[in-house]
Amino acid sequence: MFKAYKSNGAILGMRLMIRQADLNSIIKVAEKSAVEVCGLLFGRREGDSIVVEEVRFVPNRLNSPAAFEMEPLEMVKAIDEAEGRGLEVVGIFHSHLKCPPRPSARDLRGMKLWPVVWLIVDDKGSYGAYILRDGEVEEVEVTVFEE
Ligand SMILES: [Zn+2]
Repeated sequence: MFKAYKSNGAILGMRLMIRQADLNSIIKVAEKSAVEVCGLLFGRREGDSIVVEEVRFVPNRLNSPAAFEMEPLEMVKAIDEAEGRGLEVVGIFHSHLKCPPRPSARDLRGMKLWPVVWLIVDDKGSYGAYILRDGEVEEVEVTVFEE
């Protein structure tokens, strides 16, 4: 199968579309937090585009600056509510403190359990999105749009 690669390794066509305001809200909370923040991205798929309609923070039950685990009951509640509005989980987001917004070894294990797009931000406003395909991490192009 033909695959077109951009210089940064992202596959052309596969992209995450997120509103500027939603991305900013994640970055703002991450910048102020002493622990990793995390949550779910809800939306829909349109071919190779993943459109984020809602961002929902879920408490990090590890309360750690180096790892996260979404509080399970809050996570289930968020998913139920979103599904009631016709939205599905299209991604997971979390923040990194003092390290680049790329998947850690621990994140890779999580990505195997949750094979959706993983959006990672750092505490300086940088971000990246990744997905696991055939066991390999691929960078996903992020398209930020205004409402
Ligand atoms: Zn991480």
